[in-house]
Amino acid sequence: MLSWDTVTRTILLSYAHPDDESFTVAGILRKYAALGARLVLLSATSGQAGSTGDPPVCAREVLGAVREGELREAARILGVAEVHLLGYQDKHLAQAPPEEIRARLVGMLRRYRPQVVLTFDPNGINAHPDHVAISRFTSDAIPAAADARWLPELGPPHEVSRLLWTPPVRVYHLGSHPDPAALPGVDFLFDIRPWSEAKAAALRAHRTQHKSIQRHYFDCPDAGRRLAMEALRQAWGPPLTRRPETDLFAGLE
Ligand SMILES: [Zn+2]
Repeated sequence: MLSWDTVTRTILLSYAHPDDESFTVAGILRKYAALGARLVLLSATSGQAGSTGDPPVCAREVLGAVREGELREAARILGVAEVHLLGYQDKHLAQAPPEEIRARLVGMLRRYRPQVVLTFDPNGINAHPDHVAISRFTSDAIPAAADARWLPELGPPHEVSRLLWTPPVRVYHLGSHPDPAALPGVDFLFDIRPWSEAKAAALRAHRTQHKSIQRHYFDCPDAGRRLAMEALRQAWGPPLTRRPETDLFAGLE
């Protein structure tokens, strides 16, 4: 097992928009930040084509900059040490030049050398084209980062030990499910109630997105349970000795 004393445990998150992290894994991030893991968050876009809010929080022209600020505030709340916005076009991420975004992601993987990477599942939770695209680009970059023949100018190769996807069930439904551990695709399951206040604060930091956040997390009869659990699905990595597992680093040598 990895020793917390001698190895920097690093989790790299590769998402499409500011707020993807707070919707899907805020409690997990807060938990691992408290354990001393280094968290690195990549957002491929600034969410500049999204909602400005109702009533609007800002003008459309400055939405990208405002959402970057919201993401940095959420990251601060969650204990995410590093935030990188890659500057791709919101809603058009799938058209990003593959060689260029591969190089950006390989550079990040070799610089931070994470054992664990989180991204969207290949269906992007809700089939959002940007979510599907970042899942695809991340899956492309991980093996490239491990192979010294790719992009040698970006540093020594690095092999990621485990890739995790968003689960096939919406995380905010897990707390009301009678047996979330029985659901296929729930390979890692976390009771995040100790960190639910941090998750609520991170969600609220995305002020421009207040409508969808209220609808999914706060304006619902089961609001408390929506902040109770989070889950991830193993894309690949060491075989799991139990499902669901409760430690992202389980089985990593
Ligand atoms: Zn998104």
